[in-house]
Amino acid sequence: MNLARLLELGEAMHQELGREYYLTGAGLKAQPAFQAIYDRYGALVSDEALDAARASGAAPLVEWIVGIRIGRLVASLEEDQLRWEQEAVVRAGDRQVPYLRVPIELANEPDRANRLALDDARGRMVAGEVTRLRRERFGLEHDAVERLGYGDYVSGSSALMEVNLPALARAGEAFLSASEALYRDALARLAKRRLGVPVGQLERADVAWAFRVKEYDAAFPLGELIETAVRQMREMGMDAHQAGRVRFDTEERPAKQPRAFCVPIRVPEEVYLVLRPRGGHSDYRTLWHELGHAIHFASVDQGRSFADRWLGDNSVTEGFAMLWDHLTLDPTWLGRYTGLRAAEVRDLRVELLVHELYSVRRYAAKLAYEIVLHGTGLPTGGPEYAGRLTEATLFRYGEDDYLQDVDPGFYAARYLRAWQLEAAVSAELTRRFDVDWFRNPRAGVFVQHLMSRGQADPADRLAQEVTGAPLSFGPLLSRLEADLQ
Ligand SMILES: [Zn+2]
Repeated sequence: MNLARLLELGEAMHQELGREYYLTGAGLKAQPAFQAIYDRYGALVSDEALDAARASGAAPLVEWIVGIRIGRLVASLEEDQLRWEQEAVVRAGDRQVPYLRVPIELANEPDRANRLALDDARGRMVAGEVTRLRRERFGLEHDAVERLGYGDYVSGSSALMEVNLPALARAGEAFLSASEALYRDALARLAKRRLGVPVGQLERADVAWAFRVKEYDAAFPLGELIETAVRQMREMGMDAHQAGRVRFDTEERPAKQPRAFCVPIRVPEEVYLVLRPRGGHSDYRTLWHELGHAIHFASVDQGRSFADRWLGDNSVTEGFAMLWDHLTLDPTWLGRYTGLRAAEVRDLRVELLVHELYSVRRYAAKLAYEIVLHGTGLPTGGPEYAGRLTEATLFRYGEDDYLQDVDPGFYAARYLRAWQLEAAVSAELTRRFDVDWFRNPRAGVFVQHLMSRGQADPADRLAQEVTGAPLSFGPLLSRLEADLQ
């Protein structure tokens, strides 16, 4: 197989997968046929395909082909897990809650005893079937990477991703130390006010309720969600619809996924943004995040290669998504696009920022844990998981989720690098265009130009070029310190 044929097949397969993902996620089609699509493109998992990718010398192509191989290998286990999640019902006391609804219930349940009971029952279910499926799945992934000659899973993944995962985990641990006191103080105040519970007694079941910011829902109305996004993009000289290339699917359908998502079918010509919003800050943040992905895909130069348009370091697209979603944490943005008064903006923002710090610390701990987990074998990760996550977040994590809460393919590393990239680019935009860069058409031109390359450059190269400094936790930490102290 020559390279041109490989790329042609690859693009055709991604278009089919994208369409299938859109139709099933949007509730337009009941039975997903991913396996059938993979089967039709079986040539992509042949040794000739891998040889052609390796011969090209392009690391993203090799990572892509290995990813398709692993994807096919674990597809049936993944489907089994999805099916389990759709059918499982959690029973706590006399309540019966569908498994997929548990996060929504936890975020809206004011009674602490009910939250703890529900999450405990959920955890005990996960510890059974899901853990079994995940153990088998990760075992297959380890074997596949080793069989391809990449050594163990951690060094193999580092090589394939071109990210030094242990070094990133060490930087994450340094971030945890550096932000420890800041986090403990800010969380203690929030926990006392929101839950009346001291830091030492917080449980993971409390997380979503603690950060729910429910009383601000009216400032983020459902009816103005898309209109606000369109208006803000226009002020920045940008078209939220990207001349029709970004299509908003907001229609209500019973089988539609509750979470918003963005899926490209053709890059850059046809990108779907699927929403099922209910209003509130987190819906606004989610829309801005997915809109960031959508505009990124829809901005890529048509003439770019398949690899630049579809592949590469996902820290970049996550970084642009975060660049947009972090606007909903910005005081100037909140003042301009919501009806909140200055004092309300100040109070809301503190809560959002403590949540932000919680999330970064959680991911830093997750990456360090996942490296230990994948490095030392799977069956006994429970105590390591609970210990590290509890220490980093100061919410007590149990052992039940030690395999469920693992992002396949070290995606936690993509998020951590995206956080680094977002903070660096946002600081640069503020330096060049001032704090309200998000309504400055010159900033719009600047950002759109960066996005036009797709993921041709990994996050570290992009950050170096834009800011003149290497990718690090520095800008993120300085911003959190300035905002929270
Ligand atoms: Zn994302």
